[in-house]
Amino acid sequence: MRKVALVGIGKIAVDQHVPAIAASPDWDLAATVSRSGKVEGVEAFTDFDAFLAARPDVEVISLCLPPQPRYAYAEKALRAGRHLMLEKPPGQTLAEVQALDRLAQAQGVTLYATWHSRMARGVAGARAWLEGKQVTRAHITWREDVRKWHPGQDWVFEPGGMGVFDPGINALSILTEILPAPVHVTAATLEFPANRATPIAARITFSGGVTADFDWRQEGPQTWDIDIETDAGPLALRHGGNTLLIGGKEAAAGPDGEYPALYARMAELVRSGARDVDIAPMVHVADAMTLGSRVSVAPFDF
Ligand code: NAP
Repeated sequence: MRKVALVGIGKIAVDQHVPAIAASPDWDLAATVSRSGKVEGVEAFTDFDAFLAARPDVEVISLCLPPQPRYAYAEKALRAGRHLMLEKPPGQTLAEVQALDRLAQAQGVTLYATWHSRMARGVAGARAWLEGKQVTRAHITWREDVRKWHPGQDWVFEPGGMGVFDPGINALSILTEILPAPVHVTAATLEFPANRATPIAARITFSGGVTADFDWRQEGPQTWDIDIETDAGPLALRHGGNTLLIGGKEAAAGPDGEYPALYARMAELVRSGARDVDIAPMVHVADAMTLGSRVSVAPFDF
């Protein structure tokens, strides 16, 4: 078993990382670093420098922080020679992620920019089926309730928090994984609440007949769907990539468990001395922010 430290004991660490590590044969949760969070039975630090100095035996660090503080922690971890796993999105900006990738390479350590939605049950099957086919049209509908999924998390509306692209980038991580040929953003409309720095909704047009509708104001049923038309018929992903429909019929899907799959992949990367840093989903977000026309909408408060 390899020792891993979790940094930022908040919503996603508690909901997903802690149980995935506990269930894994590869990993031993050896320490946590968080100003207020802890995991019972695990040595807890409140200061990252103190952790790095005290626990040189912990070779692997997994950052579960929001994107804004992430770069500073990531840089320190890599400079301390630790292998590093990043929650999505891997940084606030493309240049931050590229700098971390160069640093990891120079240090000879593993850097894994995770995209948990790529591990959803239907994604590998969708990619395999689409290979070699002609995509004629695709539409993403990613509509959820920010109050339900990010209760009180103001960082999502602060610069660097990405707004509705925080969930939307999950859809883009699937799109960039499964399309047989890459597409690029050609236009976007971004809706910014009058009192916030990041968008609450976005409509995006890509090359190749691909469109996306992201909205964080959806109450009631939540929608995380991707519909693709090809020269060989339709393919659809439902439930965030977890259900695969080919020609309208449910197709066999992979095993459950996005986060167990991420930790298994990290174990493999560390074993083989490799890095996995794909910025393609972030490129689409950056381009939508660059090209998007801005519309001011009603103020938003949690
Ligand atoms: P969160 O609960 O708001 O924050 C995680 C932890 O980070 C907090 O508990 C906090 O711990 C620490 N933190 C926050 N701001 C900090 C700062 N400025 N400096 C240092 N530490 C800080 O966020 P989350 O929902 O877990 O999301 C974290 C990341 O996971 C995001 O990138 C998000 O996109 C991704 N993610 C979230 C979900 C989800 O359902 N929420 C799902 C998948 C991925 P302390 O205050 O104790 O230090």
